[in-house]
Amino acid sequence: MKIEKLSVRNKLIIFLVMFMILLSIPVLFTKASKKIDYKLLEKESLSISSILENNSFFSKWKENDEVLDMPIRRDLSKYKNKKVIAFTFDDGPKAATTNLLLDGLDKYDAKVTFFIAGTRVSSNKEVIKKAYLAGHDIGSHTYSHKNLFQLKNKNIQEEISKTNESIKSIIGVSPIYLRPPYGNVNKRINSLTDMYIICWDVDSLDWRYKNRNKIKDNIVKNAHDGAIVLLHDIYEESVMGAFLAMEELEKEGYAFVTISEMVELKGVNLDYDSVYYQF
Ligand code: ZN
Repeated sequence: MKIEKLSVRNKLIIFLVMFMILLSIPVLFTKASKKIDYKLLEKESLSISSILENNSFFSKWKENDEVLDMPIRRDLSKYKNKKVIAFTFDDGPKAATTNLLLDGLDKYDAKVTFFIAGTRVSSNKEVIKKAYLAGHDIGSHTYSHKNLFQLKNKNIQEEISKTNESIKSIIGVSPIYLRPPYGNVNKRINSLTDMYIICWDVDSLDWRYKNRNKIKDNIVKNAHDGAIVLLHDIYEESVMGAFLAMEELEKEGYAFVTISEMVELKGVNLDYDSVYYQF
């Protein structure tokens, strides 16, 4: 049958039929695609996520994320109506006893502050990083624990800057809190640094007694809202004494916070000219 021989009417009919078939093709495809195989989709999305994870760009991104580790920051709203106390630990770190302390603090929902001696930084990098990432404060206790009263200005600044640099090389940030050795501070020392000077008003006398129960008693009987407690994380008895004190103070409604958390909770505007013994 040759097309020229068809009547005009038949040509029109053939044209219409072909036109209808053409029109129906997209409709047929749409219907087919609406039949969703959820199991297949699930499989596909799983494989997509595994591709993303194994893709070098994304895994590099993940690695970098780990390099840029950020310390834990607590939501302080739950401590707003509590008495707060800041346990501070000087002269460390010392791997064995500082780790003992770090491992036990979670039980009391406690964050503390370390005033680190510069000479101890290079041999305790891991524990410093661990403490920092767990949300504890890292402060400076100067480099070689000298009596600052007896040093020249230049040497005091050296004691401070050397420590700050070595701590920064481990955790990426320079400490902002300074505890002068023996609590020896005056206007001259204050004027030499732009760090906040933090002393204490509750002395556990741990270095003298090295006895966990005596240390605990010294802390508990002098504790008050806003107190700063002095301890040393280089003695096991100090660490155990701190835990015993926290056990009792927790029952009295205390929360255990870092200096930074204390400052935030008390709404204090710190300045470089003051010496802080409590908040
Ligand atoms: Zn000290």
